[in-house]
Amino acid sequence: MLNETTHRLDIANGSPVAVTSESSAPRFKVYNERHLDQIPQLQRLSDEQRFNMQVVASVLPFRINPYVIEHLIDWDNVPDDPMFQLTFPQPGMLLPEDFERMADLLRKGADRIAIKAAADEIRIRLNPHPAGQQQMNVPHLDGESLPGMQHKYRETVLFFPSQGQTCHTYCTFCFRWAQFVGIQELRFNSNDAGQLHSYLASQPQVSDLLMTGGDPMVMKTHHLAEYLRPLLQPEFEHIQTIRIGTKALTYWPFRFTSDADADDLMRLCEQLVAAGKHVAFMAHYNHWRELEQPQVRAAIRRLRSTGAVIRGQGPLLAHINDDAAVWTRLWRTQVRLGIIPYYMFVERDTGARHYFEVPLARAWEIYREAISQVSGLARTARGPSMSAGPGKVEVQGITEVNGEKVFVLRFIQGRNADWVQRPFFAKFDPDATWLDHLKPAGGEAQFFFEPEYRAIQAQTSAGH
Ligand SMILES: *Cc1c(COP(=O)(O)O)cnc(C)c1O
Ligand code: SF4
Repeated sequence: MLNETTHRLDIANGSPVAVTSESSAPRFKVYNERHLDQIPQLQRLSDEQRFNMQVVASVLPFRINPYVIEHLIDWDNVPDDPMFQLTFPQPGMLLPEDFERMADLLRKGADRIAIKAAADEIRIRLNPHPAGQQQMNVPHLDGESLPGMQHKYRETVLFFPSQGQTCHTYCTFCFRWAQFVGIQELRFNSNDAGQLHSYLASQPQVSDLLMTGGDPMVMKTHHLAEYLRPLLQPEFEHIQTIRIGTKALTYWPFRFTSDADADDLMRLCEQLVAAGKHVAFMAHYNHWRELEQPQVRAAIRRLRSTGAVIRGQGPLLAHINDDAAVWTRLWRTQVRLGIIPYYMFVERDTGARHYFEVPLARAWEIYREAISQVSGLARTARGPSMSAGPGKVEVQGITEVNGEKVFVLRFIQGRNADWVQRPFFAKFDPDATWLDHLKPAGGEAQFFFEPEYRAIQAQTSAGH
């Protein structure tokens, strides 16, 4: 097997992964698209299936570690297995003409330059909003922009630490895929910790810091501590909650148990909790199958013993979890393990979305059916929620108003906090999969928030 080497999917400088030195602890390794033929379990697939996988992996990012291969995927149920669909490239993820084009190049034995050129062309078409959201929400301090941060909702600052921009394994649906193949470079400051702290100190209305990535838990604990330990100082009293978005609990649970700096991580969490901070791991789950392994359960127990809280969130995806029974069991398992169900997301408009998307109407049915099967303790899961430009918009239901079939919607988060919790209505459309497919109901020309949102957009694009 392969140790981590620098390959084109890594955008963080240096080796972003934790490699343990103890002989008893599992060592982190990754396979990428160049190592598909070295994964023993793939030998049970046909030559054609393996070739198809190579075709898709030439365009979309692929990265997996042995824990996921050995403990999460049910190899007797491949290719339908949801964990296999979540991590391995599938032929339907490319549009037929793109697939054929890349397959042709590989069959002809085209050189790397030709393959990369074709891959980049296909990628650019799959990434319709390369800048959009990201640039619009970048905060400024003393006239300087802070590209490693986003500040969209008043009380929460998102921070992308430069060492946390990759993951232990990549999800096939991930909306961050463009950054993993290097067509959308994130920009960072050389002193991102200093800038984070200066910015937070200047924003007394901010209560939450959300560390995100990639996966910030690919970072060594000492890097994480550089960002977080200074928040114990009195000038950060207003930062009450530190959230860390991660999939490491299920993709590399050893990060919390046997990795060389796992103990340091526990001490860091304990220290933050003891100082009165709410430390929340926003754990990303797609299927209850990720929560069955003893290694994961040990990691959850250990992390919770520090006083940190774990909340569960993840998108609804065709081929992986578009089934109410999967969500019911996921939420029940979470509650049993002390994890608080938080969000069911709608898949975003990028990458292989055509493969994963579920119509909003169907998403709401799945949510409703699943949430009605669980006790009140699991009904903390909100959704289906679209993280769109104006805010997080939840489909609350489908009903009739004055004889017109409509979606009932609300903002869970709004670019203007005043939009939050105001119900609004859109014409029912069985095929709509995103907010921008929806039209106002009742013959209205626009949604109530649109004039203000356009004004905000105009303001931000004029500014820089
Ligand atoms: C979801 C999200 C947050 C956090 O919102 P909560 O409702 O507090 O979970 C913050 N910033 C952005 C850009 C988000 O998408
Ligand atoms: S772990 Fe999160 S950031 Fe990483 S590939 Fe999966 S969804 Fe994307």
